Amino acid sequence: MSDYISREDAKNYVIGRYDDQLGFITMEDIIDQLDYVPAADVRPVVRGKWGTDRFKMERMICSECGVVLEWSKINNFCPNCGADMRKKIDHD
Ligand SMILES: [Zn+2]
Repeated sequence: MSDYISREDAKNYVIGRYDDQLGFITMEDIIDQLDYVPAADVRPVVRGKWGTDRFKMERMICSECGVVLEWSKINNFCPNCGADMRKKIDHD
């Protein structure tokens, strides 16, 4: 299972650890220290899409769990399984 860490926590941890040794640290030192950064409390994002019910157009179906909702009740997240229905945003 993957561990997820906060980028900011990792930077602060390494800077705090080696602040007084600048110029004398190696890449291996930094990589070793990343093992000590506490894992962030996260879970993978499940993405889905609202699809139309082919029998009743006013109903929408979650692509991940199949829950059927009236069109007026849909939202950015599936109320049944929590899938994120928003478009994925690339941060590159
Ligand atoms: Zn769902």
